[in-house]
Amino acid sequence: MAPDSKDNHKTYIIVPGPKLGVVLPELLQTVAGVVEKHDIPQLKLTVAQRLALIGYAPENIDQIWQDLGNSGSPQKKSGVSYIKACPGKAWCKYGVQDALTLGDKLEKILLEIPLSFNAKVKVGISGCPFNCCESFVRDLGIFGKKNGWTLVFGGNGARKPRIGDVIDESMSDEQVLELAVKVLVYYNANAVNRERTARFMERIGLEKLRNALAMRATE
Ligand code: SF4
Repeated sequence: MAPDSKDNHKTYIIVPGPKLGVVLPELLQTVAGVVEKHDIPQLKLTVAQRLALIGYAPENIDQIWQDLGNSGSPQKKSGVSYIKACPGKAWCKYGVQDALTLGDKLEKILLEIPLSFNAKVKVGISGCPFNCCESFVRDLGIFGKKNGWTLVFGGNGARKPRIGDVIDESMSDEQVLELAVKVLVYYNANAVNRERTARFMERIGLEKLRNALAMRATE
């Protein structure tokens, strides 16, 4: 039920997981136990495919984190706000590429790179052109076609929506991961003042980004 008090808007915990929206029974059992024990009024799936515990008594926060155990412990950050991925060809009849495996690979790569963005960077990976993870309106979007992956950059779905630019198509796992890192590194080095990728692309333009990436590739 919706809370009456605006104070409740300030009391929420995002469980750091489930990774890529894949939920393990142990996590659900732990979270369900915490919700019951602390009488938390709202358990919500977020847009980022995570779980949010909302409306708890603020004085219980330390105990809640403790009760969440490994599910709630701080995790190493990959730099991006989140990576969400659809079931892809592993589980969806329309899937033509393996979105979950690619998301896992991308997260592992990003964990090894010291990227620290000044603005939110959201990643959506979809296993087919239906784009259930909204790849065209994510900062970095990747979606699968039969002949490989398409990478889209600079999308946004917020107050000033923007369809991202297609940077390249028909790529293998390795190629799209390499391009994703190049694009993010370039954005990280050249964005100004908490500039989201949509505004960044409006400012610099697709041609300049393509040229910069080509220059890097030949260095
Ligand atoms: S994007 Fe395609 S593969 Fe992914 S869930 Fe949607 S229909 Fe299935």
